Amino acid sequence: MNNKTILQVNELKKHFNLGKGRLLKAVDGVSFDVYQGETFGLVGESGCGKSTIGRTIMGLYNRTDGNVLYEGNDVHQLDEEGKFQFYRNMQMIFQDPYASLNPRSTVGEIISEPMIVHDLYSNKKQRMERVYELLEEVGLNRNHATRYPHEFSGGQRQRIGIARALALNPDFIIADEPISALDVSVQAQVVNLLERLQEEKGLTYLFIAHDLSMVRHISDRIGVMYLGHLVELTDSDSLYENPKHPYTQALLSAIPIPDPDVEEKRERMILEGELPSPIDPPSGCVFRTRCPMAMEACATTKPVWQAVGHNHFVACHLYNDGIEDKTPLKDKRKLMN
Ligand code: SF4
Repeated sequence: MNNKTILQVNELKKHFNLGKGRLLKAVDGVSFDVYQGETFGLVGESGCGKSTIGRTIMGLYNRTDGNVLYEGNDVHQLDEEGKFQFYRNMQMIFQDPYASLNPRSTVGEIISEPMIVHDLYSNKKQRMERVYELLEEVGLNRNHATRYPHEFSGGQRQRIGIARALALNPDFIIADEPISALDVSVQAQVVNLLERLQEEKGLTYLFIAHDLSMVRHISDRIGVMYLGHLVELTDSDSLYENPKHPYTQALLSAIPIPDPDVEEKRERMILEGELPSPIDPPSGCVFRTRCPMAMEACATTKPVWQAVGHNHFVACHLYNDGIEDKTPLKDKRKLMN
């Protein structure tokens, strides 16, 4: 990884108009950079907006506000030629490999389709040679090219999805929950494959996942999302060893520790209640309805994004020196009773 920024997401908003004046604020002002050659993990519960960010970066959704710059170019303002180049450089791997592979096409046809669209090889023989090469790169073999998706296991289908994503030699891959639908035993194999490919090809990944245990080993840096907002961002080790945001702390405390003694002694932080609706998000800090540390200011004032260490950022009033009374509301209630 180097520190050259390849992707910039600036104050990105994606709202869906549901009619009758109702807006679903799936992404509501998210900013982060991705460096060339790194894996940036984006984590949060279902419905937090992380997949919407992936799709908006890919240009599959128009943005509502803010922008996405890929190598300095606004991806939502590209002309036809610019889009053509962009889709050559940026590819996506989906959560459900079965749904993303055409059941009526052979694996060879699926992987060679992007090559035909981008006019990469002059004849079928050359294309098929590349298909065989790609199949071998992802741990399958050339005989698989004539088979259909239903003949493969979930893990093998994800390998086919990866081979298709690699067909155009992209620089950047958005992996949208690529292992969530796979058996635990297969997840590690797919993660290892993605890591090997990254090393061999210098790929950059945006790796989207719903739980922190999945992204720890693959990510260089991790952004934690809650209800359309980024709440914490830092390198992978700092996030696990020194999480600052109460939501990150709660997510981490839900991950079981393999050592039974440590597991028995540690205090868990249980999140109460459901994720609120992004149609009617809480005022102030969107996490306040579930946050054990919520204080008076949390209901009225949106927390600012601030540095709390080297390359460690968080949006939470606990770290805002301008707020004097940080007594949690739950403690105040106890005193009153
Ligand atoms: Fe909790 Fe308040 Fe921090 Fe939000 S701003 S995470 S409600 S303490």
